[in-house]
Amino acid sequence: MSIRPRARVHLSSIAENWRLYDRLSGPGGAGAVVKADAYGHGAAPVSRALAGAGCTSFFVAYAFEGEEVRRAVGPGPVIHVFSGFSPEEADVCRAAVLTPVLNSLENIDAWLASGADLPFALHVDTGMNRLGLRLEDLAEARRRLNGREPVLLISHLACADDPASGMNQAQSHAFAEACAQFPGVATSFANSAGHGLSPEMRRGLTRPGIGLYGGGAGPTRPEGLKPGMTLEAAILQVRTARAGESVGYGATARRKRDTLLATVGLGYGDGFLRSAGNSGFAYLGETCCPIVGRVSMDLISLDVSAAAPLAKQGAWVEFIGAKADLERQAAAAGTLGYELTTGLGARVERIYED
Ligand SMILES: *Cc1c(COP(=O)(O)O)cnc(C)c1O
Repeated sequence: MSIRPRARVHLSSIAENWRLYDRLSGPGGAGAVVKADAYGHGAAPVSRALAGAGCTSFFVAYAFEGEEVRRAVGPGPVIHVFSGFSPEEADVCRAAVLTPVLNSLENIDAWLASGADLPFALHVDTGMNRLGLRLEDLAEARRRLNGREPVLLISHLACADDPASGMNQAQSHAFAEACAQFPGVATSFANSAGHGLSPEMRRGLTRPGIGLYGGGAGPTRPEGLKPGMTLEAAILQVRTARAGESVGYGATARRKRDTLLATVGLGYGDGFLRSAGNSGFAYLGETCCPIVGRVSMDLISLDVSAAAPLAKQGAWVEFIGAKADLERQAAAAGTLGYELTTGLGARVERIYED
């Protein structure tokens, strides 16, 4: 048994979360977004578990990620690549049978020049202004495609986590206009948060990402999501800081009274955020223990005074999990669950559990 930081990845919980989104989606069902190493959880084991649960559509950002997913899930499922198509990746796309999501007229040209011998999807921009063809480019896109039909038409919501935002309706209308130009082509619109909006937002194949891993906050978050991982660190040392002494770099945390401290093995060298200094927390048993002082590269100090009987070298504390809610921890560090789990580095051992 190692004392390095560990993320126990709960594959059956991730599969259960996917089933929940699949039930919330319309007849098009739910796909799964497994980009960025499945948001830090491990693209291969997560994709394999989701394929086992019945997921047949996967989404990644880059072709090399798609290759890894293809090896994990075998020949059946469709693997879409959001970042589009570049000639350098043609061989990878062909070998791994990936479906590029073409994002621009230039992308379409590159795809056609490469032989265009595999299915492709199209991304229509309806308000995000990052990737995707503008509505006014669709006629030209059709002309260049010259009868070749995409297998999927996608667009992406900018404000799905805010049901009151007028952007949702506006984007939905724009997407309907785009879809009308590709009659009979399958469509895909909602991300995780989009499942919490009106039924028309869940039309077609949905693309949940963060929710599969138990993240996402606000009114569009469905009830019953389970944490995708439990992030734990071992107590390396227990000590008492005396009243008047300080803790850690910069001496930012001077103690008013004697404080029982646990020094645990986790830090920004593991991708845990330095901005959680003096604001984040971890659970020792059932007790929420505040981070005291700065987060350093390898170490974090916790005030474990309220859990003294459990404060023993070798005990594990929970930074993300059923008790230490991902979004609450991320908020304490001034960010979102997305950034926290995707940022976890290779030094965090992934342990895969059913
Ligand atoms: C990342 C991504 C998603 C998933 O979004 P979540 O908010 O994680 O559910 C869906 N669609 C596109 C185009 C994305 O880039």
